[in-house]
Parts: sequence; structure tokens; C-alpha cells
Amino acid sequence: MSTETFEFQVEARQLLQMMIHSIYSNKDVFLRELVSNASDALDKLRLEALRDDSLGADVSDLHIALETDPQARTLTVRDNGIGMSRAEVVELIGTIANSGTASFLRELKEAGDSSAATQGLIGQFGVGFYSSFMVADEVTLLTRRAGESQGTRWTSSGEGTYTVETVDDAPQGTSIVLRLKPADTEDQLYDYTSPWKLREIVKRYSDFITWPIRMAARPAEQPDAEADAEPDPGTEAEPETLNSMKALWARSRDEVTDEEYHELYKHISHDWTDPLETIRLQAEGTFEYQALLFIPAHAPQDLFLQGYKRGVQLYVKRVFIMDDCEALMPQYLRFVKGVVDAQDLSLNVSREILQQDRQIQLMHRRLAKKVLSTVKDMMSAHPERYATFWREFGRVLKEGLLGDPENRDAILGVSSFATTHDKDQPTTLAQYVERMKDGQEHIYYLTGESRQTIENSPHMEAFQARGIEVLLLTDPVDEVWVDTAPQFDGKEFRSVAKGEVDLGTEEEKQQADTEREQQQEQYAPLLTWMAAQLADQVKEVRLSSRLTVSPACVVTDTHDVTPALENLYRAMGQ
Ligand code: ADP
Ligand code: MG
Repeated sequence: MSTETFEFQVEARQLLQMMIHSIYSNKDVFLRELVSNASDALDKLRLEALRDDSLGADVSDLHIALETDPQARTLTVRDNGIGMSRAEVVELIGTIANSGTASFLRELKEAGDSSAATQGLIGQFGVGFYSSFMVADEVTLLTRRAGESQGTRWTSSGEGTYTVETVDDAPQGTSIVLRLKPADTEDQLYDYTSPWKLREIVKRYSDFITWPIRMAARPAEQPDAEADAEPDPGTEAEPETLNSMKALWARSRDEVTDEEYHELYKHISHDWTDPLETIRLQAEGTFEYQALLFIPAHAPQDLFLQGYKRGVQLYVKRVFIMDDCEALMPQYLRFVKGVVDAQDLSLNVSREILQQDRQIQLMHRRLAKKVLSTVKDMMSAHPERYATFWREFGRVLKEGLLGDPENRDAILGVSSFATTHDKDQPTTLAQYVERMKDGQEHIYYLTGESRQTIENSPHMEAFQARGIEVLLLTDPVDEVWVDTAPQFDGKEFRSVAKGEVDLGTEEEKQQADTEREQQQEQYAPLLTWMAAQLADQVKEVRLSSRLTVSPACVVTDTHDVTPALENLYRAMGQ
């Protein structure tokens, strides 16, 4: 196949334009992105080689190499990892398949053209490989997939088109040559051919990468070195390894800075924002493992879509085994990212085996409890942070009220709900219970589509009149869990739309009872008449104590489904 020229997808073109004219202040991160991709590629190759003896790939010296040429103003990032086939290059590099980037563009459209907004969004979503164009005016990627004989060269200046060409003599893995923009090499601060600069960037962003990141030694940088001086093969210096490769999760807390944790988070999550919370866990004893978990600061766009990849990375004795290990994290904590490194698992362990492994199940439980207890601590220690957490992930977490009975109390304990008590601030159940009126035995709630529909419901009248607080539940999942989580702190949940409401003190109740008996007699003929008229529509017609303004309302029996659920079932054709 000869050289083919392709046009970038529209979205990709927009993104590249932004990179080329980037006003993003922190350009150094392009190297973090390229190193992160190279590291992933090495992980993938080691795994594939482990599973497939016939792959025929050389895995003896897996590493990342940085090479510079100040005269030609180029920086090369090379790895001998899995590489890409020609089709993969076109698919992965020419289009925007990455969901993070897709949502980035969506938000960008909404934000308009303001450069401040753009800056913020770049920082939030990250743009992976394309960030190369922040510092380069031409990028050449040469790659050969392990096990294949031919390689592929991809070249672009980021201006609308790219070329793809098949080549015969490409080494296994991927090398990316950046032709650096002139402006950057003139400015000392942004000279990416400077060993000093590269050392600093790698140390800051990629120190924990488990593969060596090497910088080839250049002949000593003497300005007046003779032009024709041949490097002496005998005295050629060893390449320098720039990163410490220390697994952060295996080091004690006081040896690691928050920034280092955050960089690891960014590498595994492909997020460019710092996490909200970092969670460490070291389990000793018969089944030893270390975990480093992160709660992101914002929910990904696809959190509620099918196919969302949940789970943490699994390592066995420092060797990367798999991404998205769902056996280690419950569905309702699918937003948690991180690394779990177990000492006593086989390197060949499969997803199927993991699902059944008893030790893994114990780990799963322990990790879930640890995340929940961290959120609980956050509530008291960092209320602002907790508020962010709840806004971003509350809806997902509540799924656990159905799926994880063992942790139901813990989940209720860290949950917040909209309430009639405060228009803007949600309330925790503990706060609700503290505010309960004398004689109030239950936690009252009403479900509905929006705060407004609930507040306008006639069911609310008696509660409003008496100043009794009601939780306003508007998430679809609320409808279901309230039926299964009958208690918090010994108090039952009661829908204000269900059955008899008994509000008030004993004395008030007695008085009300007497009044009611009298009214009952007085209105008996009317009720009988109405019941007969509405026989096909309702089970029963009775006098109500719940209304103060509206003349009538429809209620369901205490054990019946609510009107909203009835609608839901009807919509589902049941
Ligand atoms: P992301 O890493 O978030 O998927 P990138 O834009 O950084 O997004 O990379 C896009 C894809 O291109 C990667 O997912 C990977 O499949 C492929 N890729 C990038 N760099 C390499 C590399 N050095 N070796 C192999 N594949 C790579
Ligand atoms: Mg990437």
C-alpha cells in the first residue's frame, strides 16, 4: 500500500486547531500524555506475550526512550510496546473515539469561544495524543504491532489532513517524533530538547511509571566541540533512567507527596483534574495486598450509559494484569479509580476466575467498606468536598441501597436528600432525625419528578401546615430503594402519599379521633354515594386528615405501589 492522505474527522480538526493555537498554559503535560500511552502499550504487550506464546515479540527489555536533537529541533518518544496496526492507527489516531474527548468537545460548544473556558476544559478533560500539537508543528508516528511484519508511518501538521504509509522496516512498538515549534526552543523554559527540562517533567508527572523512561546520552554539550568529532563507541555513556519506578501504593504515606498520588490518578483515569480524595489501604496477613483508590472530582459523562467500564486496575506483585477489574468494586462504586496490587494471585488470573475467588470477594467487601468510611470521614472533616462528592456521585451511590444490603446503613449514613427544611442545601438523615418534632416517629418523604411537582402535591399540605419536614426524592432510583430501606436510626421511612397519616401528639390525636368519628357519621351518606359513583376507579372513599386546602386527593394503600411507580409499570406495559 502506498501513501494515503486522510482528512481528520470534523471534531478532531476542531480539537487540533485548538492545540495548534493553544493558550493552555501548561504545555509540559504533552509529555505526560505520550509517556502514559507508551506505558499502556508496554503493559499490553507484556500481557499479550504472557497469554500467547506464539506472538513472537521481544519482551526482554521493555522501556520508554526519549531522544532529542537540538539541531533538528526534534524530540522523540519511543516505546517497544504493543504498537498499532495500520487500521488501528487510522481508527485511534485519526478519529475521536475516546469518550472523554467527545464530552470535552460537547462542553466546549456550550462554553463558546472564551479562551478562559477553553483553558479550563483542556485542563479538565485532557486530549491525549493530540496534545503533542501544543508543542510541535509536525508529528510523525512510526509503529509496528507486535506479531505483524509491516509497520505504519503517520504524519501530520495537525492542519486538516494526515498521511498514512506502510513501511517495511519499522521496529516493534511506537516512536513519535515531534518537530518542535520554534518559539518553544527559543524560550529556555519550554525547550523540550533540554535534558534538564525533560528530567524535570518526567520527575514531576511520570515518576511512578513502572517502566524505565530512559534518556539517551548525548555527546557532551560543548559549544565549541569540533563539528566532525565522531562519538567514540568505547566511551559512549549509558542512557540515564529518569524515573524512580517506585510503585506509589507500596510506599508509606509519608514518602509520597499528594502531587505524586494525583499524577498516578491522572495516568490511570485519563482525567486531567486532581482527584477529590485519595484512599490508601494495606492489608497484611495471609492474603496480602495494597490498594490505592481515588474518588474523582467530577462524574464522567458516560457513568450511566451501558458499557461504562468500571473497576480498578489489578496488579500482581507490581505487574500490571488488567484494567477495569470489575470483581473488585461494586457497581454502585463504579466511579472509583485506582490500583490494587495483590501478592498471591497467579499472573494468569482471568476475569472468570476472579469472579469466583473467595479472597477476591473479601477484598471487594473490604474495599467497598473503606470507600464508604472515607466518605463518612469526609462529611465531617471536609463538608465542601463531601458536597461535591454527593452532587457528582450521589445518584450512583444510592443504587447500593438496592444492591448491597450489607452496607445499606453505611450508605444511608453518607446520603443526602433535598428537603422541605432548606430550599438549597440537601440534608443528611442524621440532621433530619435531629430536627424531628416531638412525637414524630417516622422519616417522611415524597417521590416525584421534580421538587416543584412534589411541593405542589396536595399530600404535602398537612405536613406543611404542621411544619413537619419531608424529604423530596426525585431520582428514579429513589422510588425503588425507599421500599426496601425501611429504617434509619430506628425510624421508618414513610411516604406521605401512602395510607393513613398520623401526625401530632397523643392528645391531639385523641381529639382528632373524636372529631373524626363525628364527621364520619355526618358524612357517611356522602361517602357511600361517592364510593358507589367511583366504584370502578377507586377502592375506597374516606375522610382525610391530610388536606388543609385541597378538597380531595388520591392515595394508595400503605402496601400498594405509589402513583409514580404505577405510571412506571404502566409505561413498561405491565
Ligand atoms: P487515551 O490514551 O485516553 O485512549 P490518546 O489520545 O492518548 O487517548 O490515545 C488514543 C489511543 O491511541 C490509545 O488508546 C491507544 O490505543 C493508541 N495509542 C496511543 N499511543 C500509543 C502507543 N505509544 N502505542 C500503542 N498505542 C497507542
Ligand atoms: Mg492517552
